[in-house]
Amino acid sequence: MRRPEELTLRERLYVPEIVRGLRVTGGKFWRNLFLHMAHSVGFAEDKSASVTLQYPEAYQNYGEAYRGSHRLTLKEDGSMNCTACFLCATACPARCIHIEAGEHPDSEFEKYAMRYEIDTLRCIYCGMCVEACPCDAIRMDTSVHPRISGYLRTDFVEDKQALMERSRVMAKQGEGALMRQMLAVYRDAD
Ligand code: SF4
Ligand code: SF4
Repeated sequence: MRRPEELTLRERLYVPEIVRGLRVTGGKFWRNLFLHMAHSVGFAEDKSASVTLQYPEAYQNYGEAYRGSHRLTLKEDGSMNCTACFLCATACPARCIHIEAGEHPDSEFEKYAMRYEIDTLRCIYCGMCVEACPCDAIRMDTSVHPRISGYLRTDFVEDKQALMERSRVMAKQGEGALMRQMLAVYRDAD
């Protein structure tokens, strides 16, 4: 980004740059409107116009490598693989993973995560937590994006139960079920 003293006089006047931005936006708007109208009557079909998906009714599937919302993986008995080692929280550059460890009821294991929360408003979806985990206990292979609406900051904090539930839903109903659940929440909120 340029420092204020590097701006030209025209840029410092502000209004010409606003007008230039509006001209670009308006130009795209009218071009797309014209082309969509022309396409609807069979003209200019060789020229493409921008398409907006009517989300949440329509949406694009994310690519294989997409880092989606987190989930905590489960053992066969349904308990979490996480051993509360704190490596994910230590690796997290956004400091958005909060873990409270407790003594594991089974003496074979040292401890478990009594509390495991991710503040998704702070998360930058870098995947460092997944890479740091020595137990494959956390993954981002859900193909769902993070929650995008809410009234309270706490609406965006995903707790242990929510993170484990994603693994249960994926195991029982497949990956697509998570997206269907998310869209249902948005429709219900309308
Ligand atoms: S994806 Fe990155 S920012 Fe988000 S919880 Fe994991 S390590 Fe932290
Ligand atoms: S998710 Fe993995 S890295 Fe994080 S505390 Fe649990 S076992 Fe450790």
